Amino acid sequence: MNKLQNSTEKLKPCDAKAKQQYVSVVLPFAIDRSYDYLVGEIGTVAPGTFVLVPLGTQIRTAVVWDSPVGIQKPVQSAKLKQIAGKIDIPRLPIISMRFAEWISQYTLSPIGMIVRMTIGASSAAGSRKQNFGVQYVLGAPQLSRMTPARIRVVEVSADGQIRTKADLAKTAGCTTAVVEGLIKAGILTNVVIPEKAYAQPNPAYKLTDFNEDQKIAVHLLKAAVEAQAFSVSLLDGVTGAGKTEVYFEAVASALAARHQVLILLPEIALTSQFLNRFEKRFGCVPVEWHSATKETERERIWRAVAQGAIQCVVGARSALFLPYKNLGLIIVDEEHDSGFKQEDRVNYQARDMAVVRANLGKFPIILASATPSIESHVNARTGRYRHVILPGRYSGINLPDITPIDLKSNPPKQGCWLSPILINALKETLNDGRQSLLFLNRRGYAPLTLCRTCGYRIKCPQCSAWMVEHRFRQRLTCHHCGFTLPILKECPECGEKNCLVLCGPGVERILEEITDIFPSARTVLLSSDLIPTLNEMRKVIAQIESGKVDIIVGTQIVAKGHHFPKLATVGIVDGDLGFSQSDPRAGERSFQLMQQVTGRAGRTVERGRGFVQTHLPEHPVIQAIITGDRNAFVEREIQERQAGMLPPYGRLAALVISARDKNIAKAYAYSVAHSAPKADRIIVLGPAEAPLSMLRGRYRWRLLVKAARDIDVQSYLRTWINQIPTAKCDARLSVDVDPYNFM
Ligand code: ADP
Ligand code: ZN
Repeated sequence: MNKLQNSTEKLKPCDAKAKQQYVSVVLPFAIDRSYDYLVGEIGTVAPGTFVLVPLGTQIRTAVVWDSPVGIQKPVQSAKLKQIAGKIDIPRLPIISMRFAEWISQYTLSPIGMIVRMTIGASSAAGSRKQNFGVQYVLGAPQLSRMTPARIRVVEVSADGQIRTKADLAKTAGCTTAVVEGLIKAGILTNVVIPEKAYAQPNPAYKLTDFNEDQKIAVHLLKAAVEAQAFSVSLLDGVTGAGKTEVYFEAVASALAARHQVLILLPEIALTSQFLNRFEKRFGCVPVEWHSATKETERERIWRAVAQGAIQCVVGARSALFLPYKNLGLIIVDEEHDSGFKQEDRVNYQARDMAVVRANLGKFPIILASATPSIESHVNARTGRYRHVILPGRYSGINLPDITPIDLKSNPPKQGCWLSPILINALKETLNDGRQSLLFLNRRGYAPLTLCRTCGYRIKCPQCSAWMVEHRFRQRLTCHHCGFTLPILKECPECGEKNCLVLCGPGVERILEEITDIFPSARTVLLSSDLIPTLNEMRKVIAQIESGKVDIIVGTQIVAKGHHFPKLATVGIVDGDLGFSQSDPRAGERSFQLMQQVTGRAGRTVERGRGFVQTHLPEHPVIQAIITGDRNAFVEREIQERQAGMLPPYGRLAALVISARDKNIAKAYAYSVAHSAPKADRIIVLGPAEAPLSMLRGRYRWRLLVKAARDIDVQSYLRTWINQIPTAKCDARLSVDVDPYNFM
């Protein structure tokens, strides 16, 4: 018996009676252990049951676990408190418990925080609200006092249907007071509105004809599903190759075998286009789970997923934490997308955790992308992942030709950002009645405002970052903390008027240039700050699809999965943006983004063209984009990762130390660094001031842990963290295993 088990046993209340009467529960807070509670009057409680328990002076929601979690402290059974009651929602499946424990161990986040995500931000665990409506009482007595409004209500409700009071009043053209009156009079009665059942996707609804390459891919993926065992397939094919159509067949197989299916997409790629395609193939739209899903809907979905009443969920990363009853397949589309990494409270990579979930559930997972991550490429090469390749576009149309535009020899006009070559291409496309897209991954009008007189640069008071001018909203905004100011008329430093100059372009400035050159062109600006909700975004995308737009200017939200049939020309305004020194994935990310954006061009029209404006035409990323030689690029990246012991050849973890006081932050960073245990094949770099040295008023320092691949970084970090002296004042330490952010 190992030491831990031994000590846990000793610490338990020991009399046999008590042993049957208490259970371990996990509370959805930042606590890394379970607590024991007496079962009391409520009799037996199965693992996974949601219960109410007293904590301090309050009653809290908790989940009954099947064994103790974390380090337990001895408690006398006399001191144990009692469970206050059960909550009437389906039990959390055992596999969801194992998954939560796994993520907690891996990310070093408290188990309670994972449970918090699992129960869907408390809504699912809230008391179940029933919706009431009214219904006509059959054989109700005739009333002596019938007003015309009452007669209309009776006429409408005589069909026996259940309606909400508001609906009934609206249909009858009266106030709800009339409806209330009829309830009192016994003509109508309050009834519970039954929950509407979810439409079930039909795997055989509409079959697709596949070309030869697609047939092979379909066969491989279906075989993986039919094997009903854990496997990872990397579905790798250029944009327009038909990856979606192909993985839909794997979805169909899983559905036919009565398994639940989860399709994970980056939030922004959850377009209505995708939902329509699903509906065409399976006869109904799938259930969606993302930030725009309403609270009441979330509750319903949560329950229905647990009961197995929903077969397919399409969602953003948090959909991974739904309580699936019999999940049998996960698809991660756009698997390379860094949006799968969450950096808020629990730092987790949803793609990687999806692989873990599949492994726990012993079922297959499919990762799809036109530009797979280096990690997935390596896994495919070593045979850990099955590599399923779709070599060309389904339409047979070639990928667009990409032309570099050297900004040194073809500079834009003074104060402008588009070179004559690009402007000419836009003009031709416009004359052909086709669409163009200009891509710049920078929101707002100008990233920097500078005083010509004193040289002052307008900076965020809480972050080490410039304030970005947003002309549409007439504000200066910090992109790191959201702090905003009205646009300034004079220099805040020297007080001079008319001396502020705007440096560099954001998408708003590019749109202004376009409007000046092509005043009659129909344009649209796609930027997350101007189109804040998924629904508004869907409307704009629909306009573009239907050809109501000539020129699109957008940030990276244009890169995700859209299919614009009339798009012929794509221009990358600044190909050099994003080559950062500190981020090992910077080159990969630039490549993916540019490849995805240019891949939008010429999907259905002939002669798609792409242009990349650059000061560094010889840079390997730019070269890879121009030549389209992805393999050479991937090869180079892999070699660099290998040489630098970077992921996936080595493991990384970031420790970020922060405090309001500059000196306290620094001192704490050094004391954290001094506590680092010595270990073979683990290097601790730093402490160093973070590139973003101040964020939201807190000074930041970083440490980076680099370890060989076979090292258990988590236990190293745990040992380390246990040795760190307690922080002074408000100093904080946060740990990010597998970091994607190096700022
Ligand atoms: P990807 O996901 O690889 O970018 P899609 O699945 O979106 O590619 O396919 C690109 C376009 O080609 C879509 O309009 C899709 O409907 C069409 N397509 C792909 N394969 C087929 C097929 N076998 N039959 C009919 N249309 C197809
Ligand atoms: Zn700020």
